Amino acid sequence: MRKQYIAVTYDICEVEDLFMDMHEYVFSTDQELELLVKKFADIDIAPLVRVYTTTKEDSSDPTFYKDFHFEEYDCGCEKLDTNQR
Ligand SMILES: [Zn+2]
Repeated sequence: MRKQYIAVTYDICEVEDLFMDMHEYVFSTDQELELLVKKFADIDIAPLVRVYTTTKEDSSDPTFYKDFHFEEYDCGCEKLDTNQR
């Protein structure tokens, strides 16, 4: 059984009670996993990327692997900062 990974990007806003999945990215190596995950976060401006593992033969039952949090993409609507995106 060959392993593969699924990264799901999430849009989160605690103020608006939002926790929405955006896109799924499938890849087959954990080499430079963090770099890859950061790239997905950059594309979707995602504060959270959740990574699952599955096998190529059966991707119907993914196993939770790891969460990656990107503070730079945290929702800014709580902060009364004039420097918002
Ligand atoms: Zn917000």
